[in-house]
Amino acid sequence: SDADSSLMAALPATTKCGVRITFYANIDFKEELQALTAAGAEGVGLFRSENLFTEGTKVPKESEQYHYYREMAEEIAPMPLDIRLFDIGGDKLMYSPVKEQNPNLGWRGIRILIDLPEILDAQIRAVIRANVHGNLDILIPMIISVDEVLKVRAIVDRHYAELSSECNSQVEKPGIGAMIEVPAAVELIDEITRCVDFISIGTNDLTQYTLAVDRNNVIVQDLFEKFHPAIVRQLHRVIAVAHKNHCKAMICGDMGSDHLALPFLLGCGLRKFSVVASDIPKLKSLVSRYSIAETEALARECLTFGSSAEIKACMEAFEAAH
Ligand code: PEP
Ligand code: MG
Repeated sequence: SDADSSLMAALPATTKCGVRITFYANIDFKEELQALTAAGAEGVGLFRSENLFTEGTKVPKESEQYHYYREMAEEIAPMPLDIRLFDIGGDKLMYSPVKEQNPNLGWRGIRILIDLPEILDAQIRAVIRANVHGNLDILIPMIISVDEVLKVRAIVDRHYAELSSECNSQVEKPGIGAMIEVPAAVELIDEITRCVDFISIGTNDLTQYTLAVDRNNVIVQDLFEKFHPAIVRQLHRVIAVAHKNHCKAMICGDMGSDHLALPFLLGCGLRKFSVVASDIPKLKSLVSRYSIAETEALARECLTFGSSAEIKACMEAFEAAH
């Protein structure tokens, strides 16, 4: 009922054995912040900043971005807000001046930002300046190498040094996170998690790029299997390696909202989920049904199967037993 759901939203999420789980919200516009507290979100795990582009290709100015981020930061402080750097190109906002044969494998996300440093500089400066008023982090989309992470880090460090000497108020340096959404980043997870403050797993793109299945192509939508063993094994490994390296791990892809995936992800060690806000009450109530030891056994079992069908059946049996 509505009463149950608002009660659930207000309580911190804990497993049956008392482990604290945090739910953040994925948002596209600042207007969505109002609904956050009612839903029980403890911050924003993914703000898709490319929505600030107007008329498709108009890059928002540093000052516009600063005001927008500042307003968001103030509204939800001290809760955290992770601003993902513009993820333009690919299936999202078309930015390329040339027609690309394979936009999903083309000029997208961090690739564009590294090639057009004036866009990256303005966004990073806007985030650092807005961080005076809240608790912001930077999330980098489409990472495939350590070099890309280090380039962004160096740019953040340079602007941070400049801005802290210019401004009188205390500026905090935003944390830096990498989206893990391409198999290359999974292969490099040990190195990547040593040079970021956190990672966020984008299962939508990770599934697309692992299975070579276009996430928006209806002809192959049946092949877009979120419980494919290749995905399940990658998730397990990414979370384990991140935690071994004392790097925070979060999921922000759609799998984070999936009721069947939830106990598996808990069993992998995941404690932070960023999802559509309206899904949070349902997820919190599910979390309270599981103990970590049981979910760890489930995760181990899921790793033994060679097909989606077996993995899904195993997850369904677990859910039915709880
Ligand atoms: C993802 O790829 O899973 C993700 C969260 O990012 P987006 O859906 O914006 O590509
Ligand atoms: Mg993505």
